[in-house]
Amino acid sequence: MNVLVINCGSSSLKYQLIDSDSESVLAKGLCERIGIDGRLKHTPSGKESVVIDSTMPDHTAAVSLVLKMLTDSAHGVISGLSEIGAVGHRIVHGGEKFAASTVITDEVMSAIEECNDLAPLHNPANLIGIRSCRTLMPEVPMVAVFDTAFHQTMPKEAYLYGIPYEYYEQYKIRKYGFHGTSHSFVSKRTAELLGKKPEELKIIVCHLGNGASICAVKNGRSVDTSMGFTPLDGLIMGTRSGTIDPAVVEYLGQKLNANTHEVMNILNKKSGVAGVSGISSDFRDLDKAVSEGNERAEIALNLFNYRVAQYIGSYTAVMNGVDAIAFTAGVGENNPKSRAAICSYLSYLEIAIDDVKNQVRGEEEVISTSDSKVKVLVVPTNEELAIARETVALL
Ligand code: ADP
Repeated sequence: MNVLVINCGSSSLKYQLIDSDSESVLAKGLCERIGIDGRLKHTPSGKESVVIDSTMPDHTAAVSLVLKMLTDSAHGVISGLSEIGAVGHRIVHGGEKFAASTVITDEVMSAIEECNDLAPLHNPANLIGIRSCRTLMPEVPMVAVFDTAFHQTMPKEAYLYGIPYEYYEQYKIRKYGFHGTSHSFVSKRTAELLGKKPEELKIIVCHLGNGASICAVKNGRSVDTSMGFTPLDGLIMGTRSGTIDPAVVEYLGQKLNANTHEVMNILNKKSGVAGVSGISSDFRDLDKAVSEGNERAEIALNLFNYRVAQYIGSYTAVMNGVDAIAFTAGVGENNPKSRAAICSYLSYLEIAIDDVKNQVRGEEEVISTSDSKVKVLVVPTNEELAIARETVALL
C-alpha cells in the first residue's frame, strides 16, 4: 500500500509517499510560504527535484498541488489518486487523550482540537492538514500519529511538576514530552540491532538535532524524557535554552523591560548554542568556529555535551541501569566529535567508544568497543517511515 505521510506546519507542509511493502520512498517534498506566496520542492525517487513557485493561499491549495505533482505525467510517481491507500498525519500534541496512534474520525478531530491549547502553534496547523486531505481525498482512510503518545507511559513521579496539584487537574500542566515517534522508532531498532527484544532492555535514546531530547526507554516503554510541558525544556538546543530556573523569566523581563511573551521568545529562539556562542545554531558552524579558536563556540558545545551527559546519568539512575545508548537526529547521527565528547563523561558506566567506528555518519553502527559494558549505537531516525508503519498497522 502507498501511504502519504503529511507533516503540516503553520506555513509549511512536508510530505513523503511511501510504499509500505518495500518501505521505499516514492517521492518527497516540501511546500513553504503557504498563505504568503507559495513554493513547492518535489523530489520523485530516482528523478531530478523540481521547484515550483505557485500561489498557495491555504493548505488545501498546497495539498492539491502535492497531489497534482504525485500524479503528474513528468514528475509524478503514481498514475492516479486511487494508488494512495492511506494518509498518515504527524500530530504534535495528543495531550493525555492519545497514548497511541489512532484512525481519524470526527470524534478524533474534536479531541485533537481540544489539545490545541497545549500546542497553539502546531495542532491547529496539523488539523488544517487533516481537513485539507479529507476534502481532497474523502474516501482515503487517515491515521493520526502523535509526538506525545509514546511518553504517555511515564509514571506520575516523572511527569508531574512540583506545583499545586489542581493546576495539573484543571489546566493539564505536566510533562508530556515530544519526539515520541522518533524515540519509539529508534529504541525498537536499537533492540533489533542488538538481537534483543525491547522488553529485555534499558535504552537511553539521545535525539540530538536542532530540537533535542533524551528518552529513558525501559522494557520498550518511555519512563522519562527531557522535554516537558513544551519542547523548550530539557537539553540546551540549537536556539532553545532548555531547563532554566523559572525565576530568570521575571528577572530578565525586568532588566529588558520585556513582557513574558518577549522573554519566552528569547528562550525559544535566541538562546541555546546559538545564544551562548553568538555564532550559529548549526553544529557544523560551531565545529568550524572551534577549529578556528573561537572560545564562545567551544563554551556552547561544552554546555550542550555536559547537559546531555547529565541526562544520561539521571536516566541511568531512574532505570537502575542502562544496556544501550542510541544517538540519532542531525547531530547524533552526523557528529562524531559531539558523541565522543558526551561519552567521555561516561567511563563510570564502563563505556568505551571505538574511535574508528565512531566516525560513522548517518548510518547504523555500534560505536562502542566489544568490551564496553553498555552498547553505544548510531541509529538514524526515520519519523516518516514510523508514521507510515503505524498507519498501515492500524488500518
Ligand atoms: P531538526 O529536525 O530538529 O530541525 P536536525 O535533526 O536536522 O534538526 O539537526 C540539525 C543539526 O544537525 C544541525 O546542528 C547540523 O549541524 C547537524 N547536522 C545535520 N546534518 C549533518 C551532517 N551531514 N553533518 C554534520 N552535522 C549535521
